[in-house]
Amino acid sequence: MEQLDYLWRYQEIEDMLDRYNKERKKIPLSVQLNKLKKDILDKQEAISEMGKLVKEKNEAYKQIRGRYETLSKEFYGDKERLSSANKSDSNELKELNAKAGSYINDLTAIRSDLQALKPDIDRLDADLIKARNELKQMSEEYNQLKKQYEAQIKEIGISADELRKEKQELKARIDKELMDKYQMLRKHKQMAIALVDKDKCSGCNMSLPSAILTAVKEGKKIIECENCGRILYYNKKDEK
Ligand SMILES: [Zn+2]
Repeated sequence: MEQLDYLWRYQEIEDMLDRYNKERKKIPLSVQLNKLKKDILDKQEAISEMGKLVKEKNEAYKQIRGRYETLSKEFYGDKERLSSANKSDSNELKELNAKAGSYINDLTAIRSDLQALKPDIDRLDADLIKARNELKQMSEEYNQLKKQYEAQIKEIGISADELRKEKQELKARIDKELMDKYQMLRKHKQMAIALVDKDKCSGCNMSLPSAILTAVKEGKKIIECENCGRILYYNKKDEK
């Protein structure tokens, strides 16, 4: 039965991937890499927050600066009018003088706002540059460690990517009902599909009744071991 051939191979792959993952976790570099990866993500997050803040501050600075320029223009306009004003009209002179006084107050206030904001922006800019450099260093270290790690992974001798791909392909071919049964068994047993070997279930070692054996060999339907519940698999390639 083709379905069982697929499932048998599926189980083989899962076992190999389990072994691969176990071996992989034993490599000390994996802990180091995971930590570094987390640090890098945190740093990226911090940089993005800082970037937002710099943008906000720059925006505020630009706005205040704009207000300053508008006021300056008005102020100089009035100053000109003051110099060309009809000197005999004392009311106009008084009014223009008063206006000029309030302009100067406003401009002084705005200038001090700008001066207060500037060091903030400069400090943030410097922090941002520092954080970006740190991130760059961390990324370089990560890439270096990763190379070492990958070399060690290779030594495990299991090409996990290929296996995962094959696993996906098999999964698509295996009936859902059979897959569900397999996965249910797999939760409790390392071996969910058991080979029939010398007329025994290789999962629990029980001798199988001849009727069961015949049915398994026929391979027309899914047969479970009456003793352990495993899906029985007879590999025709083993026939001599
Ligand atoms: Zn059994």
